[in-house]
Amino acid sequence: MGGHYNRRRRHEHPLYFMNESRTLIERDLAVLWHPCTQMKDHESLPLVPIRRGQGVWLEDFDGKRYLDAVSSWWVNLFGHANPRINAGIKTQLDQLEHVLLAGFSHEPVVELSERLLKMAPPGLARCFYADNGSSAVEVALKMSFHYWKNIGQPNKTRYINLANSYHGETLGALAVGDVSLYKDTYQPLLLEPITVASPDCYHRESGESCAEYSQRMFADMERTLEQYAHEACAVIVEPLVQCAGHMRMYDPVYLGLLREACDRHGVHLIADEIAVGFGRTGTLFACEQANITPDFMCLSKGLTGGYLPLSVVLTTAQVYEAFYDDYARLTAFLHSHSYTGNPLACAAALATLDIFAQDDVLGRNRELATLMKNLSAPLTGHAHVAEVRQTGMIVAIEMVQDKASRQAYPWQARRGLKVYQHALQRGVLLRPLGNVVYFMPPYVISDDEVKLMIEVAGEGIDIATD
Ligand SMILES: *Cc1c(COP(=O)(O)O)cnc(C)c1O
Repeated sequence: MGGHYNRRRRHEHPLYFMNESRTLIERDLAVLWHPCTQMKDHESLPLVPIRRGQGVWLEDFDGKRYLDAVSSWWVNLFGHANPRINAGIKTQLDQLEHVLLAGFSHEPVVELSERLLKMAPPGLARCFYADNGSSAVEVALKMSFHYWKNIGQPNKTRYINLANSYHGETLGALAVGDVSLYKDTYQPLLLEPITVASPDCYHRESGESCAEYSQRMFADMERTLEQYAHEACAVIVEPLVQCAGHMRMYDPVYLGLLREACDRHGVHLIADEIAVGFGRTGTLFACEQANITPDFMCLSKGLTGGYLPLSVVLTTAQVYEAFYDDYARLTAFLHSHSYTGNPLACAAALATLDIFAQDDVLGRNRELATLMKNLSAPLTGHAHVAEVRQTGMIVAIEMVQDKASRQAYPWQARRGLKVYQHALQRGVLLRPLGNVVYFMPPYVISDDEVKLMIEVAGEGIDIATD
């Protein structure tokens, strides 16, 4: 990291940090309740206070560095403390920090909308903002239902989703997901989607290609649409990669078939690109690989380069027009969040889009994807690895108890946690999903850093499967 590190001020002495870190952990555990965490785990699993970030590296108070191989929960695209994004936010900060977006407007949100619509699949014409991914999903669900109501089909009230999908954790978003770990507890509170088998290629027969499998699995969707189209508002999917659902992947052919069938049956298609958007799958948006335009596209996570919470739902002129009428007809979409379209977040997003425009990001990512593919390939032969799979900048390694039968490790064994702990000690932040170790690094990662990341993952897998 920067040379200013050498000129430590007196209070920056390493011993001081060690104490400061310990104090911070104590203070934290006295008042915080962390996300996605059984807090009792922290009796034995140390919390990691981070003092600063730079590029792909996070640094703790002892000066120990961690390679952020999961992009801080899939949000970071161009590294921590990216000078260009920092500058964009700083400039905006002196201009306007926030203003309500109802009745008022501002330059960053207008420019961001214009640019997103130019980059997005053709036919998307309107941007509706929220401030996190789950809220964007809620917006898309409500908008789709409300569209059908406005055009005189109030009987369309249900959603079709895929098995093993994830769309966030507010009640509506949780309901249309299918990861039981997050969902089962709240089942009595949730609306009931119609769940279709996933095209997830992990389950393909030997000798069957991923495309053949995904295409074959479409039969269940077709049947479901035939049966339920009259009462269904929309089908919601994560294009190409079910990220929270253990990084399971499917072929673009499924999306092409789905688009055609949704049109034929008069059902909307919601593409949740919250995790896969902005280059993760190799193309700017995953939908591009199937050449389709969804009726709603949800974006968040990488939208601000991983800096600030912001989300947006892109939709078509046809949807927009079904809401556009005299006030007294009460057809307006009266949904809002306090921080909708926050100018600082929009400035971070604009700086992020500038980087895509100025650098050959997707070209460099193709090189990185090839490197990750080559370096992780040997793990395919590991006695406890069933599969190494990849879509663009996402690589996942499935650890199993028995390679031949693909018998999974029981979840209680927490094998992934062992990988996490080993990697942390070696200065790499990996955060396996159950038995699946994956890489989703920031795009500014160097070749040597990719090497380190995969080497440490290999060690971790050896230890965890021992
Ligand atoms: C993360 C995620 C969400 C939820 O976004 P939050 O900002 O965490 O609410 C929704 N859908 C997908 C596919 C995601 O990966």
